[in-house]
Amino acid sequence: MNRSPHNIGRRFFLKNGLIGAAGLAASSALPASLTAGQQAFKAPGPLAKEAGLITRQLGKTGVTLPIVSMGVMNSNNENLIKAALDAGMVHLDTAHGYQRGTNEVAIGSVLKGRPRDSYFLATKVQGEPRDRQTGNFSPETTGENWLERFNLSLQRLGLEYVDIIYLHNVMTREAVLFEPLMKALESVKKAGKARFIGVTSHSNEHDVIRAALEGKIYDVVLTGYNFRKTNLAELDAAIAEAARAGVGIVAMKTMAGGFWDRARTEPINVKAALKWALSNPNITTAIPGMTSFDQLELNKQVMTDFKLTDQERTDLKLGQPQAGGGLYCQGCNECAGQCPKNLPVPSLMRGYMYAYGYRNLGEAYDLVSSLGVSENPCGDCSSCAVRCAMGFDVRERASALARLQSAPSEFFG
Ligand code: SF4
Ligand code: SF4
Repeated sequence: MNRSPHNIGRRFFLKNGLIGAAGLAASSALPASLTAGQQAFKAPGPLAKEAGLITRQLGKTGVTLPIVSMGVMNSNNENLIKAALDAGMVHLDTAHGYQRGTNEVAIGSVLKGRPRDSYFLATKVQGEPRDRQTGNFSPETTGENWLERFNLSLQRLGLEYVDIIYLHNVMTREAVLFEPLMKALESVKKAGKARFIGVTSHSNEHDVIRAALEGKIYDVVLTGYNFRKTNLAELDAAIAEAARAGVGIVAMKTMAGGFWDRARTEPINVKAALKWALSNPNITTAIPGMTSFDQLELNKQVMTDFKLTDQERTDLKLGQPQAGGGLYCQGCNECAGQCPKNLPVPSLMRGYMYAYGYRNLGEAYDLVSSLGVSENPCGDCSSCAVRCAMGFDVRERASALARLQSAPSEFFG
């Protein structure tokens, strides 16, 4: 019988389901409200092992995951999600805001009828309102609105609980430790609506990771992590501290924007980029975004072998001086405070990557709309005062992204 990960198919999750149920009694990380008859994912079943899928433990959650998971952000293609699950990518990552909720609905439709212990589902909800420059929460921010949106996410997914609920997109210690939202996160765990609590960060990640350790309630951090990061020494140190403390680390943005150049003529070897991220043993799993079966095939190959070849090292230009440009905003915050109009430059650059790198105009539109910038935010400036560490033409990118807002919202639905 062919046991390659490409031929696991439906048998994988069926057998996995049985194994997960058997492992239930041993799991100390079940929602308090789960009764003995209910199930929760603990580890991939024996078929994953036979197929050679590499797995790692998620901090001290008691959960073991394959090193490659599915970032569902840019695709509500149910067949693609099914194919990923059936290949052993048991961890699906979505968010309340992705594709305006249709992402969670599509996942819910795929998961319907699957044994609850055969997959591991993470979603994310942002706290609002927040300061557009720092991303810190406003004094008016309460957990109630956050809880409402979280409950809507559960409804869309058709689930009684998620495996990880993330406080989404924070970049400061203050935001990680913002008490009203910490209480809201703890309340959903206590109510059995989430097994684990996490926090996500695209920017200033090392501070966010350390704040998560300080906060004590966080089980997992989802962090931007890729070979183009300029703050790797600091980030790797923080990730190692998290690993020692038993906080699981999941990597996102491993593809570093997907292209070396803004014009999208020079693609990054994204399979190599994924392997590079996984070469850090403190990363439990990565959630590369997938929109096509070709991408899925490439990522499936990494599930059994993440060793970089010499050619892949060359493709990633490892060991060469860091090249500027591309589409990926490092979130390094070196541009902080430079714009006299106080524009949230890193968020604008990230939105630009969504639009021009991922071609996900809906996500780019929703992001820029949430930032409270006008359709022509740089119109009064004769020259741009912002010097980006990656050499981005900030004025040009901010203007191109902000212009999206002149189109009707439905256009991007
Ligand atoms: S041109 Fe530069 S300095 Fe002026 S508003 Fe835009 S980002 Fe800020
Ligand atoms: S815009 Fe440039 S300087 Fe600012 S955070 Fe992104 S990469 Fe760093």
